[in-house]
Amino acid sequence: MRHLILSDIHANLPALDAVLTAARNEWDEVVVLGDLVGYGADPNGVIDCVRSMAPRLVIRGNHDKAACGLDTGEHFNQIARFAARWTEEQLTPDNRRYLRDLPSGPADLDDRLEICHGAPFDEDHYIFDVVDAQRALDARRRPVCVFGHTHVPAIFIAQGTQMSVDVPDGDVLALRLNAGASYLVNPGSVGQPRDGDPRAAFALYDTAGTFTFRRVEYDVAAAQRRIAIAGLPQSLANRLAVGR
Ligand code: ZN
Repeated sequence: MRHLILSDIHANLPALDAVLTAARNEWDEVVVLGDLVGYGADPNGVIDCVRSMAPRLVIRGNHDKAACGLDTGEHFNQIARFAARWTEEQLTPDNRRYLRDLPSGPADLDDRLEICHGAPFDEDHYIFDVVDAQRALDARRRPVCVFGHTHVPAIFIAQGTQMSVDVPDGDVLALRLNAGASYLVNPGSVGQPRDGDPRAAFALYDTAGTFTFRRVEYDVAAAQRRIAIAGLPQSLANRLAVGR
């Protein structure tokens, strides 16, 4: 079974379209790690697209909660809060209900892999360094824990008492999953990458034992135009061009 893993789409429909085009015929089921909306200009378009794929597993992110009234977004910065309020106004009643009903992570895909938005011990926690990675590895229930939230692709591998860290870069990186090791991996963000590479990031998990990181170019200018037309802050358009 092959799974397309999408995280942090953030209402960026041109990026999601590019990912689905690049990955067509390469997956059987979709898995979504949360933050379908927030920042971008197409919240309903993205939710409709995700729903149309009938994901095997989809969990909520912090921006999903803020956009549907489950969270006040008071801890967001001013721009994120503005985008959350704008998103809330745009959502159709049905899509708002869809977001409200999304489960929190962690959630198990199979015996090998689980997903969460931020961390397995706290859906809103950011995993950037080895300290948090170790905490997450201690909390996970499956050999492979896939997380999002930071918008930065990452690989932490624990074997015995050793932990190694890797940064996926380039167009494709295939990780062979070995029995006896534990993995904490972030596929990166579809709709708002923050690792300095503006290309949309996603991953493919094959139950035969590989996890593949991918990048694909998309029409950044189209996403920026849509943000401008929506009246969302210009900085949200600018950052897409630099992947920050
Ligand atoms: Zn996010």
